[in-house]
Amino acid sequence: MSHQSRMAPNYKPLPVKIATAEDCWVIDVEGKRYYDALAGYSSLNFGHRHPGLIQAAKDQMDRVTLVSRAFDFELLEPFADKLAKLCDMDMILPMNTGAEAVETAIKAARKWGHEVKGIPANEALIIVAEDNFHGRTSTIVSFSSDDVARDNFGPFSGGFLAVPYGDIDAIEKAITENADRLAAVLLEPIQGESGVVIPPAEYLPAVRRLTEENNVLFILDEIQSGLGRTGYTFAWERVGAKPDLMTLGKALGGGIYPVSACVGKAEVMGLMTPGTHGSTFGGNPIACALGMAVCDLLETGEYQARARELGEHFQSRLDAMVREGLLLDKRGAGMWAGIDIDPDRATGRAVCELLMDKGVLAKDTHGSTVRFAPPLSTNKEDLDWMLDQLEAVLQEIK
Ligand SMILES: *Cc1c(COP(=O)(O)O)cnc(C)c1O
Repeated sequence: MSHQSRMAPNYKPLPVKIATAEDCWVIDVEGKRYYDALAGYSSLNFGHRHPGLIQAAKDQMDRVTLVSRAFDFELLEPFADKLAKLCDMDMILPMNTGAEAVETAIKAARKWGHEVKGIPANEALIIVAEDNFHGRTSTIVSFSSDDVARDNFGPFSGGFLAVPYGDIDAIEKAITENADRLAAVLLEPIQGESGVVIPPAEYLPAVRRLTEENNVLFILDEIQSGLGRTGYTFAWERVGAKPDLMTLGKALGGGIYPVSACVGKAEVMGLMTPGTHGSTFGGNPIACALGMAVCDLLETGEYQARARELGEHFQSRLDAMVREGLLLDKRGAGMWAGIDIDPDRATGRAVCELLMDKGVLAKDTHGSTVRFAPPLSTNKEDLDWMLDQLEAVLQEIK
């Protein structure tokens, strides 16, 4: 009798069974080594098992691991201080997963809309972008345009209006037509899941100006794009469009433990009152210790500079593959890229399987697009080796 997995089949992983990992490399149960070019969708910006981060987690485990928010904890304020400073924001609300941080931003924005802006009760509207990815909760999939993420998960939550991503005229029209009921605009500064889609440089600054003029909050989901990935602490810095609220997750836990937060202005975050929102594990001791250690790594700017410098090399090699006709197209910023394979040659999945055979782990996203987000700690030699493998695979399918 064949073995029936007890894992609910909500993923279809590549057939590689990882046993151990260090920095950019993982080793499977058979002892084969792979370069991790996905890095946990940008959760592992500092590499696997960064020694300083592991030490921070271990030290905290020897002191106290959970207090719940029913009591105060010695690192809660210091963590909030450090993270707020890194973000140049007033307040943080710590959660665990990215989706929870997005839920927090949605709730905070609606509360502000009803209590400060004066939108009638339960009428607050939030503008989102088509092809967004903000997580998997039932509210968040309500405004997804991905049928696979939505089908049969309704009834859906209302109060969201989707506009095409990167289209200034479309969002201007939506903002001005709905200004009275509009609490917020929620966007990814670069759409990761959608294939590392970068909007025109004027887009985010235009949304910033339009939201300000219409008394609407501007929320950026920096869960995947933030914390060094694009060569900046936050992707919005590339174009200078500072939001009112930001969601963070993924790399905030150093690839060790889920840590997320909604950070923002006091006039919004300060509206939360005891009992209105929370999480048992949000801001727990290990999360605080890891979050602080991650802030320390980013405070020096070293990882951001590295992502900018190595990123230039990374992007130029991918650009060359487009010029040579190996790729249809490519988009990227810093150490983040989405490449489009000619669908007549192979699917993204097939390319990922060929890469896996050569010792590189990457992940396809929709159709024939493959996303790369190598650890920012990678050295140039390893990065070049990874790109050599990609080039070899693209030659094979040519
Ligand atoms: C991954 C991701 C999320 C969801 O984070 P989870 O920790 O999986 O809940 C939300 N927004 C963006 C942009 C993401 O990349």
